[in-house]
Amino acid sequence: MFLLKSIPKVDKFIKNKKFDDLASSLLVSITQEVLQNLRENILNKSVESFSEEELVQIVLEKYKALTQPSLQKLINATGVIVHTNLGRSLIDPKTFDKVKELVTGYNNLEYDIAKGKRGERYSHISDVICRVLGCEDVLIVNNNASAVFLILNTFAKKKEVIVSRGELVEIGGSFRIPNVMKESGAKLVEVGTTNKTHLRDYEENISKKTSMLMKVHKSNYSIEGFSSEVEFKELVRLAKENNLIDYYDMGSGHLIDLPYGLDKYEPSVLKYMQENPSLLSFSGDKLLGSVQAGIIVGKKEYIAKLKKNQLLRMLRVDKLTLALLEESITAILLNKTDQIPTLRMLFTSTDTLRENALALHQEIQDICECEIIQTKTVIGGGTTPNRTIPSIAVTIKIKNYKQNKIEKLFRERKIIGRIENDKFLLDFRTIQKSEIIQIINTVKEITNV
Ligand SMILES: *Cc1c(COP(=O)(O)O)cnc(C)c1O
Repeated sequence: MFLLKSIPKVDKFIKNKKFDDLASSLLVSITQEVLQNLRENILNKSVESFSEEELVQIVLEKYKALTQPSLQKLINATGVIVHTNLGRSLIDPKTFDKVKELVTGYNNLEYDIAKGKRGERYSHISDVICRVLGCEDVLIVNNNASAVFLILNTFAKKKEVIVSRGELVEIGGSFRIPNVMKESGAKLVEVGTTNKTHLRDYEENISKKTSMLMKVHKSNYSIEGFSSEVEFKELVRLAKENNLIDYYDMGSGHLIDLPYGLDKYEPSVLKYMQENPSLLSFSGDKLLGSVQAGIIVGKKEYIAKLKKNQLLRMLRVDKLTLALLEESITAILLNKTDQIPTLRMLFTSTDTLRENALALHQEIQDICECEIIQTKTVIGGGTTPNRTIPSIAVTIKIKNYKQNKIEKLFRERKIIGRIENDKFLLDFRTIQKSEIIQIINTVKEITNV
């Protein structure tokens, strides 16, 4: 009873000097919870004494945990470059600095400086993209999923869209093409079989209700063996003959074939534009290596219709996205791939990766069992599912810990590695040079635990 009575009163307790800089509403809510827990624990006899100082400490810790940002920086040592769970493509710090100036001040987002009146949000990057790709117009939306939805809703609501069965994919985060179509109001007409679809399958299913022939990039899976699909250029031709719209959801797109040979992974948007398609869409943060966005390119008359759809207001992008995208696209066009981390990582030579791995290995070889190995990784983000790229990794074994335990110890310290052939490893394809020091310190810390 005595203990219950000595529980401090909330309003008095929160006057403690140690709480001086804290926001009072949050402080009150945490204090109430802590004191309520204390009361319960006294009643069920799990607490037999306490001090006010202890309570203050508990409240301070809870306050700190609650006010810490939940998004945190991680080291991606999985080797997967466009890792959807880890934020997909990175933004180059120099690019970010340039954009910072733009978005921390007012700007001409929707203002025409020459005319002194309202301008168009989407005009900013369209000129340069149109010039490079030879397309008539461009529209940027929130992400590629939005692009798919907006296009289907605008042109195929209550109408039919013909898609190959082999392309009705589900990509990460349960984005399923058939479901998205349904939500958009479009009626899906599946043609062909899972492994084979021919041009005649599309042809035979064209009816008065058909509005569009759609092709979807298979993204994260591929069909091997006895299989065939219709090339987009054939769909474009068939659509033209029948006065229909052709549309390719490319998923991960890159603009132009850079000197390194990105085309050996995926044909570029430029390549598809040569077929003179109605519409194409792709993500801003997959192979393009910029910020989350959906980029729609194609014929002016169709893009004008998309711009008139009220839905666009819900899917439109912010100045931050436009500014980052503009910077990245300019860098790509000027062939400055070092400013596009996704491309920089993809094209780093294994010799350079080995040098970086060596820098880690030298510092930790005396404190744990470690080895530099050759391995393979993937680009990720629904690009080239079966294609591996060579990489270099450092395997790490600490004490007699199992690989799962080592993985967890690293993960808890914000380094995400992977387990391969029963070994825990850090893949240097995605480790930034500036992060090596943190990895060394983490290994030291774990070996001392
Ligand atoms: C990734 C992908 C999408 C979705 O793009 P987000 O930018 O993630 O919205 C749609 N279609 C295909 C084929 C994809 O690969």
